Amino acid sequence: MQHKNFKNIDKVTYGRGSFNQLAETVEPVRKENKNYFVYVVDNYFKGKDLVNRLQNKAEDLIYYIDVDPHEPTTEQIDALRDEILAKKGLPSGVIGIGGGSIMDIAKALSLMLTNEGSSTLYQGLNLVKKPGIYHLGVPTISGTGAEVSMTAVLTGPEKKLGLKCDWTVFNQVILDPELIASVPTDWWFYTGMDTYIHCIESESGIRNNAFSLAYGEQSLKLCREVYLGEQSGRSAENDDKLMVASLMGGLSLTYSEVGVCHALSYGLSKIHGTRHCYANCVIFQHLGDIYTKGHEEFMQMIKKHKIELPQNLSKEWDDATLTAMAQVSYNLPFMWHHAFGDDWQKTVNLGYIKDLFRRL
Ligand code: NAD
Ligand code: ZN
Repeated sequence: MQHKNFKNIDKVTYGRGSFNQLAETVEPVRKENKNYFVYVVDNYFKGKDLVNRLQNKAEDLIYYIDVDPHEPTTEQIDALRDEILAKKGLPSGVIGIGGGSIMDIAKALSLMLTNEGSSTLYQGLNLVKKPGIYHLGVPTISGTGAEVSMTAVLTGPEKKLGLKCDWTVFNQVILDPELIASVPTDWWFYTGMDTYIHCIESESGIRNNAFSLAYGEQSLKLCREVYLGEQSGRSAENDDKLMVASLMGGLSLTYSEVGVCHALSYGLSKIHGTRHCYANCVIFQHLGDIYTKGHEEFMQMIKKHKIELPQNLSKEWDDATLTAMAQVSYNLPFMWHHAFGDDWQKTVNLGYIKDLFRRL
């Protein structure tokens, strides 16, 4: 077996109020290139207190980006890159402040500022030619693990696929749990469950190992405290835990693999545009026979937080739609291999995957 060899985030600041250290953190980098920073900030924060705390200098460019109409696209990154270079030349760095979508925009932009042509050329593993510029991530929702992963997921005209290489990983992240307090409760639940599912899938398969389990078990413990224990629910203490759980869940899956729920989730998202974390919840409720213990706990968390997930979605899907969804999922063989072992193809084929989708 080929052992994984991953680059980690260079530096991590963690703690309540740590966002206030942004300016001093980036100061040494300001001497690079054209001596200015580009901020990409989730549009949610426009008009909020955070805007007065960005610690930017007059020369910096600030873009507020609305991530709700669509997930990040190749076209959006290319246009932003062209505009920035035409306006002021190569920045010292990119600072992303927001959820998984903004994390991916910051990572992709950092790479595309130094690599010529369209970002569609680089969707895949190790296709990026040159290192990007310094990039720093400040997550404001916890769950996807995008703050730690080596991929920047973009939707292009042909594929939804990440720019995946060592240079994608952030140089610095600032984890300030104060910033996730305003996340709406349904999203707090869906994104946290993404972390939970990362850990369940990471441990339930052939690629799990002591290293991935160490992160996964700690992340699961934190998820249980946040969503199940006596002190569960929305609180400052739980936000402190959730932020760490997200990072550790991301590291757990990096050194192992995700499984059936994520494979199906890509099919659902690609064909129906369903958001990643929500899609995982919609699917995981039906995987009780595959992830028995994790599923039981998941259903308890759903009940405890009075979350209503849609039912009977597949009634609307004809055979062609189900086939298209199944094809996307089948094209993630490493996830199926992890979940079912070397003989996975004896169980998993398009018909099997379509049957799983019919459960939805
Ligand atoms: P998101 O970034 O799409 O944001 C979801 C919503 O929450 C938006 O409306 C946003 O404005 C709002 N929001 C963000 N922070 C907030 C705050 N503090 N208070 C109130 N509202 C806030 O959410 P996400 O689920 O974190 O990210 C999903 C994206 O991440 C998808 O584009 C997906 O493709 C990507 N993703 C990437 C990876 C990776 O490893 N790179 C992994 C999984 C998913
Ligand atoms: Zn996920």
